[in-house]
Amino acid sequence: GLAPLNVVAIECAAEPGARRLPRVPGLPDDVYEHDGQITKREVRAVTVSSLAPEPGQLLWDVGAGSGSVGIEWARTHPACRVIAIEPREDRADRVARNAAALGVPGLDLVRGAAPGALAGLEPPDAVFVGGGVTVEGVLPGCWAALRPGGRIVVNAVTVESEMLVARWHAEVGGTLTRLSVGRAAPVGGFTGWRQAMPVTQWVASK
Ligand code: SAH
Repeated sequence: GLAPLNVVAIECAAEPGARRLPRVPGLPDDVYEHDGQITKREVRAVTVSSLAPEPGQLLWDVGAGSGSVGIEWARTHPACRVIAIEPREDRADRVARNAAALGVPGLDLVRGAAPGALAGLEPPDAVFVGGGVTVEGVLPGCWAALRPGGRIVVNAVTVESEMLVARWHAEVGGTLTRLSVGRAAPVGGFTGWRQAMPVTQWVASK
C-alpha cells in the first residue's frame, strides 16, 4: 500500500514580490541560469518523477549541466541529497549558482568527468545520466554503484545514446519512453508548434 505523507511544517516565507516557486518538479526553464543545455521543464518533471525521490535519499546527477534535475530532486524534500557531476568549469559554476539561488545549498558538486569522477563517491539511491551516456564505462559504472533497489534514469537525445540505452533495456529491463514536447510560438502573425528534440528515457530498478 501507499505510505501516508505527514505534513510536518508549512514554510511559506518569501520576500514580498519574489517569484513563488513550488516544490513540485518542472520549474520554468528561465528560473535557471543556463546556456541552452538544460533538460526542459516538461521532460524534467517526468525525469524527477521517474527518479522517485524519498526523504534522505542520495541522487547522482551525472552531467549536471545547469543542475536543474538534481536541484529539483533536492527541492522535493529537505532531507534529499544530491551529488552533481559536471566536467565543464563554466557549467559547474552555474550549477553552484543555481543551487544557491533555488534553495539547495547542500548540493555537492564534483568537477570532473564520469566515469573517473564517480570513483569513491557515496553509493546513490538513484542515478540520473543526462550527459556522457556514450562515454565508455559511464553506464556500467553508474549501474554498479547503484544501491540495490535504486533507480537509474537515462535521457538519450542522440541516435548513438539511444542505441546504447536500448541495449541496456534489453539486458536489464525497465521501461523505455519517448517524450516529445512542442511549444507554441509566433509564426508570422499566427502561432505554430516548435518541436523540441525528442528524448528517449530509460528507467530501471536494480
Ligand atoms: N540535465 C542537465 C543538462 C545536461 S547537458 C540540465 O538540466 O541542466 C549534458 C551535460 O553533460 C553537459 O553539461 C556536459 O558537459 C556533461 N557531460 C558530458 N560528458 C560527461 C561526462 N563524461 N561526465 C559527466 N558529465 C558529462
